[in-house]
Amino acid sequence: MVEITIRKRPQTEAVITQRKFFKKTARGKVVKVLRERYLRDDVACGIEGCRECSTEISRLLPPSGGLEHQLFPNGHYILPDTNVFLAQMDLIESSLFNPPMILLQTVLEEVRHRSLPLYNRLKALTKSEDKHIWVFYNEYRSETAIVREENETPNDRNDRGIRTAAAWYNTHISLTHTPIRGQKQMPHPTVVLITEDAANRQKAEQSGIVSVSVRRYVEAMKDANVLLDLLSAEGSHNIEPTKAAAGRQALYPDYLPTPTLIAGVKAGELHQGHFNANQYNYLEGSVPVPAFDKPILLVGRENMNRAVQGDIVVIEVFPEKDWKAPADEVVDQEAIQKNDDAEDSGEEGDENDEEVFSKESRVLSGSSNQKPPSERQPTGRIVGIIKRNWRAYVCHIDSTSLTSTLTTSLSTQTVFATPVSRLLPRIRLRTRQAPTLLNQKILVTIDRWDSTSRYPEGHFVRALGQVESKEAEQESLLLEFEVPYRPFGKAILDCLPPEGEQWVVPPKGEFDLQNIWRDREDLRDVIVCSIDPPGCQDIDDALHAKLLPNGNIEAGVHIADVSHFVLPDNPMDSEAAARGTTVYLVDNRIDMLPSLLGTNLCSLRPFVERLAFSSIWELTADAEIVSVRFTKSVIKSKAAFTYEEAQIRKDDPNLHDELTNSIRLLNTLAIKLKAKRMAAGALNLASPEVKIHLDSAESSDPIDVEQKELRETNSLVEEFMLLANISVARKIEESFPQTAVLRRHLPPPKTNFEKLQDILRKTKGFSLDVSSSGALAASLDECVDAREPAFNTLVRIMATRCMLSAEYFSSGSVAKDTFGHYGLASEIYTHFTSPIRRYADVLVHRQLSAAIGSTPLHATLHSKSHVERVLDVVNRRHRMAQMAGRASVEFYVGLALKARGEQARARGEPDVREDAYVIRTFRNGVGVFVSKLGIEGLVTFKRDTQFDAENYTITVPGAKEEVKISVFDKVVVRIEVEKDKNTQRGKVKMTLVEPVDSSAF
Ligand SMILES: [Zn+2]
Repeated sequence: MVEITIRKRPQTEAVITQRKFFKKTARGKVVKVLRERYLRDDVACGIEGCRECSTEISRLLPPSGGLEHQLFPNGHYILPDTNVFLAQMDLIESSLFNPPMILLQTVLEEVRHRSLPLYNRLKALTKSEDKHIWVFYNEYRSETAIVREENETPNDRNDRGIRTAAAWYNTHISLTHTPIRGQKQMPHPTVVLITEDAANRQKAEQSGIVSVSVRRYVEAMKDANVLLDLLSAEGSHNIEPTKAAAGRQALYPDYLPTPTLIAGVKAGELHQGHFNANQYNYLEGSVPVPAFDKPILLVGRENMNRAVQGDIVVIEVFPEKDWKAPADEVVDQEAIQKNDDAEDSGEEGDENDEEVFSKESRVLSGSSNQKPPSERQPTGRIVGIIKRNWRAYVCHIDSTSLTSTLTTSLSTQTVFATPVSRLLPRIRLRTRQAPTLLNQKILVTIDRWDSTSRYPEGHFVRALGQVESKEAEQESLLLEFEVPYRPFGKAILDCLPPEGEQWVVPPKGEFDLQNIWRDREDLRDVIVCSIDPPGCQDIDDALHAKLLPNGNIEAGVHIADVSHFVLPDNPMDSEAAARGTTVYLVDNRIDMLPSLLGTNLCSLRPFVERLAFSSIWELTADAEIVSVRFTKSVIKSKAAFTYEEAQIRKDDPNLHDELTNSIRLLNTLAIKLKAKRMAAGALNLASPEVKIHLDSAESSDPIDVEQKELRETNSLVEEFMLLANISVARKIEESFPQTAVLRRHLPPPKTNFEKLQDILRKTKGFSLDVSSSGALAASLDECVDAREPAFNTLVRIMATRCMLSAEYFSSGSVAKDTFGHYGLASEIYTHFTSPIRRYADVLVHRQLSAAIGSTPLHATLHSKSHVERVLDVVNRRHRMAQMAGRASVEFYVGLALKARGEQARARGEPDVREDAYVIRTFRNGVGVFVSKLGIEGLVTFKRDTQFDAENYTITVPGAKEEVKISVFDKVVVRIEVEKDKNTQRGKVKMTLVEPVDSSAF
């Protein structure tokens, strides 16, 4: 930053230095604000060795400017306008793009005003060692500061300010390069205005400023081939139209103007919500809106009108007679659009276009009209977009979209990028590197989607590496689920205790300089142990139990005292809040906190003193709570068990030591606590969990997949964690009724269960009572098929999918009667027990600490809106982390299956076959669940089938006679992993072996 010295301001400048604007106050009052600027003439130009401007800052613009550009052999500095930063940040960030650059204050402020994420990216670049960016405070320098003229728009004012600064620079440079008498005038560098605005360019040229468009500038750069790919398609349509652009017809309706949308939503005539694409059928989407119980169905691309997963859209709902039921069909865009040409599509009368169109209309007309009216959903069309949710997506280049003559050449061509996610449309992109990008995972950003273009247009951001290489797959997974995975920076690591690994709990007394022992109970002699999965490094909980003289039992849960180390609002805290949670992948863990804390100082390792936050109960032998207290403590764990070790120890009749007895006491209590929970109506839900065995840490090749085994001791730990979370929730809600960080699970809308209820009734004759969680739990217990033990688990998995997900909230933000946790049947709940890996728990620790008077509550935790904001991020990160974890398991299951298939073939055995259960029937296939592997698959039939939507059956021709397949049927599938020709990704392919061989037709 430039040091500011204030110069006395002569009267005549009074006008120029006043900026007048209107501001709305928090109470809605409009006030006039006059802001005075103090103009100076010592704001430096930033060019090294400038005779006029002396400055002591080290990183300056080189005196001769950038010399590597063809158009500017005498050297140049670029001065981009605001839109260049808004549209082309991927280019600016590229390590191959580093001409010396002047960034005007006007531009920087406008970028901040328009997009905070882009502003943050730009700010980071100004600090980067690799870039030569000088921030010029043009609004503070007397020659370059301007005032808005009457009738001038803010936009025009800024454009004029930018031109004024560019002109000043050129004059300034020529003045400081004045010829020495008798010598030839030396050529000096030029300041080049970069703008996409042709009118602005024209005005610039009239006042003698050199000005070019981004594309023209990049085309003459050394690495043009690579850099041109990074250009956003935004704003480039006037420059390089695709060959079909002329004479195109609109394929989609235009959007209504924003004021119309807002007024319509306000009046209740239009509806606003998030767009959800259908992963089975790219021609369908839905949008949940408050006005209807069921989400609004959107059928066909025209009605979805260019919405992309997650966009906030505005919908017009059709009259009820036009409502439809969702189609029962798997519709794969790759299959239907596979002959579509990236270069041509959209052209009127195009053959491929006709082909796609007729296939799509066949799909649309074939379905759902015969459906019972009860299955119809409000149906409508998108009339506008409030906010796009576009970002960079992990994709593959569709090899079939490469022009055959160009598969090896490096000339520009338009190709399709297929996103990994089935929820996204294919993206059209122009690239010069197509042949080298085949077989790579790449990042692609969507830039625009015109009404004349079937597909959105985007640009290449960067390559992630070879398809199926672990590095590329892992990074793409993190990017796809937006997991922040950069290493912790210096500012964050500086928040750690300076002693590092040597940090110990100080001795009590005079050497306790930080007062660590103040308000802390000494529990070092208590027989505490931890029980975790094998190889657990971040131990955040430990337990103990002992008999009291009165016959009652004292039980304690001790949680790592993370909030002792992570102080509110420092860089480490902000980073943890932004990450929200630790993310667990099969072979990797992305920590929320630096590992010094997570796996060492906060980890409740055995035999070392650790700071803890303890919850200690007195319980009767029947597990009734007599009392509970919370205290900061120091513990010294006596053992770190795995679930299995703890189980063996508990069951060993020869052991009678204190530790073993403590585990037995905990176990007895846990059984009673669980029984009480179940009696209160808690749900015992199932989600398929599998465990991946890795060959060795180095190769991380999966050798097998097995289902996770649950022992009594798993349940022991779980019950006490639930008890601690519930007790803490009560305490913090009582102390901070407005801002307590709680977690709730809303009861699912009854309509969510309609389909499952109907399937169960028709196929198995069971009825599901969903009137309360208790009733649901009881009726789930009834769903038993003696011949098929897996049936009950299957029903539980399907019921789980009808539920809403649990969420964090601030107690003052919702009505108290909605606090409840449906799945746990608890009226209040929070997360206290895993502060090493969940940020919500850190906040809860701070609130609990304040509630017991140990530390004052930080001001931000008194603010409802602040807590809401933080929890919004945490909720989102939590969902994404779960999805990333699941995707990682899927990837490894795929690798394991591939290896198994190869081994089988090598031995001359048939392919991998597994039992599977039908969980869904479609018009042209069945959805199956392979419980042993925890994966779902899709079996599609190419030949005609008879589909009975009412009874969830599909009848397919068999070898001798027709075979009817129904939901819940047990079948055998052949599982193969094959490389998809289009996307180059390994794809699990399932075919039916029994009751019919689906590959036979
Ligand atoms: Zn200067």
